Amino acid sequence: MLEVSGLTKKYGKTLAADQIGFTVPDGKIGILLGPNGAGKSTVIKSIAGLVRYKGSIRIQGRDAGSLEAKRCFAYVPELPYMYDALTVREHLEFIIRAYHADVSEEEVGSLLNRFELMDKQEKLGNELSKGMMQKVSICCALIIKPRVILLDEPMVGLDPAAIRTLKEIILEQKEYGGTILISTHMLEMVKELWDVTFVMDKGRIIGTYPRETAANKDLEELYFSVTGQESGSDLTSKPVNAACDLASTGKKRPLEWEEAGRDRAGENGIGHPDSKTVREAGKDRR
Ligand code: ATP
Repeated sequence: MLEVSGLTKKYGKTLAADQIGFTVPDGKIGILLGPNGAGKSTVIKSIAGLVRYKGSIRIQGRDAGSLEAKRCFAYVPELPYMYDALTVREHLEFIIRAYHADVSEEEVGSLLNRFELMDKQEKLGNELSKGMMQKVSICCALIIKPRVILLDEPMVGLDPAAIRTLKEIILEQKEYGGTILISTHMLEMVKELWDVTFVMDKGRIIGTYPRETAANKDLEELYFSVTGQESGSDLTSKPVNAACDLASTGKKRPLEWEEAGRDRAGENGIGHPDSKTVREAGKDRR
């Protein structure tokens, strides 16, 4: 389960996230929608611990900054980043070791197969196409068998086969009780996936729409009617069901992440672990 409340993030004078609150329960897929600059990536990066914020974020009931929470969530960034000197296979091995994940050879092979990366295993990070990088990034996230997965525009750059595979995998994760949060503009791609949609604009959530109460609205209709980017709908900006919204706690982020330049560092971090997470994971095992 993913619980966000009172999430507020400012970049200088820009209020990118303003008292954001929502919950995505176990076994559900949440979609973050909103125009460019609405604050979607800021929310995802806050959950992933890549930017400082105010508010409370809990992953599987634990503070998002805790090691326990970091162990059970994965993040696929908008822009994949590869280590030049590591092969595709080594990227996966690195993540498996960093997380001390219990992963069999068959599971690695199966994931690589599903994303048609089997014959790319020995390619270095800087030898991959953009789509291949995106696939590796997704594999790195999935390989630790996360309970909560954050995907920021995951389908951009993927070929149709990979998009289909990713959708299948997302539905499998949901079946196993996983929690998935996807930020996207590709409404068509997520129309059969979503359980609850959060529409953002100007740093705020302007509507929360569980699928069962959004009746006959499809995502596109919902999006345009709520954001007002296109006229012709009777759906107002009132949430159909705001039960998912949580009250703000106003809790402050621990200072340990408040390093100069931190807001930008790690934005493109592969899969999830930045060096600090890896270090902490290692420390915890000793
Ligand atoms: P898009 O759909 O275009 O990816 P988004 O909904 O993900 O947009 P964000 O990237 O979260 O939006 O941006 C929200 C606001 O915060 C925007 O006004 C943006 O200019 C600002 N912003 C985002 N990142 C930074 C940053 N590192 N420094 C300063 N301002 C930022």
